[in-house]
Amino acid sequence: MADNNDIRDFHWMVEILQTIDIGLVVIDNEYHITTWNAFMENHSGKQASSVKNKSLFAVFPELPEQWFRQKTDTVRMLNIRTFTTWEQRPYLVRFRNYHPITSTAEFMYQNSMLYPIVDTRGEVTHIALVIFDVTDIATSKLALQDANGELERLSRTDGLSQLFNRSFWQECLHRELQRSRRHQHPASLIMLDVDFFKQVNDTHGHVAGDDVIRFIGRQLRLNIRETDIGGRYGGEEFAIILPETTAQDALVFAERLRHIIEESTMKHDSTEFNITISLGIAELNDQMGTEQDWIEAADHALYESKDGGRNSTTIYTAK
Ligand code: GH3
Ligand code: MG
Ligand code: MG
Repeated sequence: MADNNDIRDFHWMVEILQTIDIGLVVIDNEYHITTWNAFMENHSGKQASSVKNKSLFAVFPELPEQWFRQKTDTVRMLNIRTFTTWEQRPYLVRFRNYHPITSTAEFMYQNSMLYPIVDTRGEVTHIALVIFDVTDIATSKLALQDANGELERLSRTDGLSQLFNRSFWQECLHRELQRSRRHQHPASLIMLDVDFFKQVNDTHGHVAGDDVIRFIGRQLRLNIRETDIGGRYGGEEFAIILPETTAQDALVFAERLRHIIEESTMKHDSTEFNITISLGIAELNDQMGTEQDWIEAADHALYESKDGGRNSTTIYTAK
């Protein structure tokens, strides 16, 4: 009677293993496959009979052998199970993704578990490898991360100039002030403003004015260094943080930018026009207590450029 029950249990188990939507592979201590369920057959396209007694590494050449041996050594020696999530390793064995409608992944994301199988003497003779298909969870989590990343980018970007917006740029300025102070390194700030911008709007229209802001944003993005931080400070006023840069070095960059803009021709509808910018530079010094002091110094220099006739650059000097 007990035997009959055992056999019935065994059949139940085999039935379950064949029908569950989870991969099951059992390997011996030489990594030879002894069990291969229907999930594995369906996703690998390989029948159990064709992989039995074959090395797992031969069947899955993409499986990183050294890493997998280390994992199974731990399972065998400590008689414990181990878990690998898709975040640690997107998949253990590469299967094509069969959920093309619900997800865009080209392969199946997997969580996997290694179980020790012990004999009556308590020795690990085999290891069960259990594979869970988590493609839907993984792709929706990744999509959410992408969306959050894009939202974050949008929340700190000015739509017209594609530079940082004022609030994010000001956070950067705060960090740069602290950083330069701590390391006793130079840092410069450039504020720039379009000359007679009101006239551009009045003469060519607001759309042409917006084009000018886009153009300046593009020129800043093209010309600043990777470590420089450009932002749109206000209407037609822009600001650039130049870490590790003295006022004299900032002047070289500012003048180059001024010339590029002065020499560019703006086109709107069938009319052409030119614009110029005025700039002010302030190198960080010990008298500037806060980032607002730094901005005011650069702004002061900018208005000297305006007073002096515009289309020029001035370096701030403390009075
Ligand atoms: P100045 O040489 O002294 O700087 O003269 P300005 O005409 O450039 O200065 P003012 O501050 O008088 O004019 C700035 C104008 O910029 C006023 C405002 O209507 C316009 N402006 C601000 N933001 C935008 C924007 O996003 N798009 C457009 N098209 N115009 C804007
Ligand atoms: Mg202006
Ligand atoms: Mg202005």
